[in-house]
Amino acid sequence: MDTAAHALWATLVADQMARHSSTLAGSSHAEFLAACAALSLAPDFCYHLPFLAYYTAKMGGPQVQARDFRSDVRNIFYLRLGDDQPPPAWIMRVYFFSHSFLFLTVTWGLLFWVWPAVALPFLVGWGSHLVADLISHRDEYSLRPLYPLWGRAVPGFVSWYYSRRFNLMNYGTLALAATVLYGGIAWR
Ligand SMILES: [Zn+2]
Repeated sequence: MDTAAHALWATLVADQMARHSSTLAGSSHAEFLAACAALSLAPDFCYHLPFLAYYTAKMGGPQVQARDFRSDVRNIFYLRLGDDQPPPAWIMRVYFFSHSFLFLTVTWGLLFWVWPAVALPFLVGWGSHLVADLISHRDEYSLRPLYPLWGRAVPGFVSWYYSRRFNLMNYGTLALAATVLYGGIAWR
């Protein structure tokens, strides 16, 4: 799922949790939402920012003037080094790691122990990201839920980056959910 949709879903889930739970005392409603939204972006930043640095170092230099900006953006988006060269293996390892449910569970357990205030936003933000990507990554970016212990990939139903229909449905569902949940508040 695209990064903006991850943040919107995480914010929506976090807001509903905060409205319906009395155990979320300790952090303000806005802080909880902001933390969940920020942590829902983190799984992608973990590998995309290093790739951006790698791409810039590798593809920069004098020839950069000759290339067109749009193909750079496309390459960076699809983690390609131009001419459909796949990303280096270490980028994929970071990707599988940051998108692993095993990593999510272990990190959540550690946070619960050493930094409990962040444990729930981490579970909501990072966890909602992984659930959404599990459904919407079908090709070589299919999630490996137990990585690095077990490398078996679990293909989703669709690859969101190739499916206009999925993105329309995703944003349509978001808009519908927001209308059902908050429409009454706006009309009151
Ligand atoms: Zn992702």
